[in-house]
Amino acid sequence: MSIVEALLEQIRQETRDYPAKRVSIVRVRIGALRQVVPETLTFCFTAAVRGTPLENCRLDIEQLPATARCRKCSLMFPVTESWFECPSCHEAGAELLQGNELELMSLDLT
Ligand SMILES: [Zn+2]
Repeated sequence: MSIVEALLEQIRQETRDYPAKRVSIVRVRIGALRQVVPETLTFCFTAAVRGTPLENCRLDIEQLPATARCRKCSLMFPVTESWFECPSCHEAGAELLQGNELELMSLDLT
C-alpha cells in the first residue's frame, strides 16, 4: 500500500538522526479525500512494520474532513466528492482548503 510506504519513508527521514531511539507513537493526519479507512491503514501499517524496529509502535490517526471555499462567493462548505461545486452559487472548481492531507504530525521516541 503506497500510503504506508510514504509514511514509512517519512518516519525513516525523521528518525535518521536518532538511531538509538525507538518510535513508540506515530501520529498522522489524513484528509477525507484520501479515502483511507483507519482500520485498513492500521492493519497495513502493522503488517509493514512487522520484524522492523517500528514493530511495536502505535499508529494514531486523525482524520480531517474535506473543506472547500468557493472562488466566486467565498462560501466555505464540506466536500464529499473529489469534484465539487458551490452549494450556494453553483460555481465549479472551488478551492480545496483541506482534505488531501497525508501528514506525519509527530513521533514519540523512547
Ligand atoms: Zn459560491
